[in-house]
Amino acid sequence: MTKIVNHWIGGKTVEGASGTYGPVTNPATGEVTTKVAFATVDEVDAAVAAAKEAFTTWRHSSLAQRTGILFRFRALLDAHREELAELITAEHGKVHSDALGEVARGLEIVDLACGIPVQLKGELSTQVATRVDVAAIRQPLGVIAGITPFNFPAMVPMWMFPIAIACGNTFVLKPSEKDPSASLKLAELLAEAGLPDGVFNVVQGDKVAVDRLLEHPDVAAVSFVGSTPIARYIHTTASANGKRVQALGGAKNHMLVLPDADLDAAADAAVSAAYGSAGERCMAISAVVAVGSIGDELVAKIRERAEKVKIGPGDDPSSEMGPLITKEHRDKVASYVKGAADEGCEVVLDGTGFTVEGYERGHWIGLSLLDRVPTTAKAYRDEIFGPVLCVLRAETYEEGVALINASPFGNGTAIFTRDGGAARRFQLEVEAGMVGVNVPIPVPVGYHSFGGWKDSLFGDHHIYGNDGTHFYTRGKVITSRWPDPSETPAGVDLGFPRNH
Ligand code: NAD
Repeated sequence: MTKIVNHWIGGKTVEGASGTYGPVTNPATGEVTTKVAFATVDEVDAAVAAAKEAFTTWRHSSLAQRTGILFRFRALLDAHREELAELITAEHGKVHSDALGEVARGLEIVDLACGIPVQLKGELSTQVATRVDVAAIRQPLGVIAGITPFNFPAMVPMWMFPIAIACGNTFVLKPSEKDPSASLKLAELLAEAGLPDGVFNVVQGDKVAVDRLLEHPDVAAVSFVGSTPIARYIHTTASANGKRVQALGGAKNHMLVLPDADLDAAADAAVSAAYGSAGERCMAISAVVAVGSIGDELVAKIRERAEKVKIGPGDDPSSEMGPLITKEHRDKVASYVKGAADEGCEVVLDGTGFTVEGYERGHWIGLSLLDRVPTTAKAYRDEIFGPVLCVLRAETYEEGVALINASPFGNGTAIFTRDGGAARRFQLEVEAGMVGVNVPIPVPVGYHSFGGWKDSLFGDHHIYGNDGTHFYTRGKVITSRWPDPSETPAGVDLGFPRNH
């Protein structure tokens, strides 16, 4: 029987009323295993109403109550890592160890949220004027909407809701319709941890649900993570509707390899970062820029390693790379490789004909490697989001950095070198939000913030870390004067208040 994934509203499962469902496919078998309910406007309204009602009490809950629940949630998450990872692999396709890594990085943000009292500590200045004190506090916003992509169905929601609810907000999550089961598991664990009904809600669905969240008058802020065109749309629409919004978009992450780099280490890093999770990571390395004369040797080393990567179903422990999310996406990724030679690329590895015996209907594609890629090629210009690595050549460091900075994307980037001075210069000159020095996937730890520049992020705030707390709260400054009982009132003074 086909499994059905429903909404989670007001602390319980709510069956989809519209009768409209989307298919969820196991990418390794190509089989539709699950139907996911698509929310109507009324269902989104019900979730927002539940969150709004819960906010009236949750905002006044003590920090001790909130962190107590988050600590219990953390323990439950820890105990259910395997189960969550299995749900992720069954719907996303990534290999089990990678899915476990995703849960671990989400858990890091729950750790941060458990320590929210430190972040929410206010400021106090005493005696700014005679018997006048000033306090600065931060307060929650209200109902937050989170809209998340398919590629991290557990981690990306956990970039958002632990901090949002720790700050006293309530939350409505609209996860990706392609792999929705992890979101419901998270909702169940939060309820088991003692989170009051309505503080965390999930509406499943597509554009109908998203658009209602963007226009709903009771949604105070929107956190979005997904592709650049949709991020731009979310930022424009939610801003026009008066909401605070952060919208993280797509990427094309470059790795600059200088001639003095350890080429074995650079090749290991390029293969791990380009092909891990079949390239379906916003921090995947999709372009290597080889500087000077190392290009041929580096490409040979990458090729040698890429040819050994074992592709197979995510639940087979020997698999290192799984299938792509959908058949349509697989075909689109393949089209970039098929068109690459005509656009002037040297096709070193072509993974387009690849399949796995016994799993012929799975969304497979092998590892592809394109060399001497011109910056005009579609394979370079577009975010492919698949296991396709482009290698570009640059004569000098300056040329390499100029090439990276000309990209419209600016999510992550990395430099591989033994030269500390060049690495330092790169840190300061490169136009990207996250920089790795001999680290190919520089995803910041939970207590630093994650976010890109240019078309990789719309809005002012990066996600989680201090930026997360800032995004989910607003400042209030309180000026108080407590006169001495023996003091004679100063009397009427129509002048603008001066401090003395
Ligand atoms: P997507 O933009 O297609 O979808 C993201 C979310 O938006 C989903 O919940 C989806 O239902 C919704 N959505 C899709 N089309 C919509 C529309 N027309 N109107 C309103 N809502 C819509 O992204 P995806 O394919 O699920 O995820 C992959 C993308 O996400 C890649 O581009 C990747 O780089 C990006 N991503 C970025 C980051 C980051 O931190 N910058 C992290 C993970 C993924």
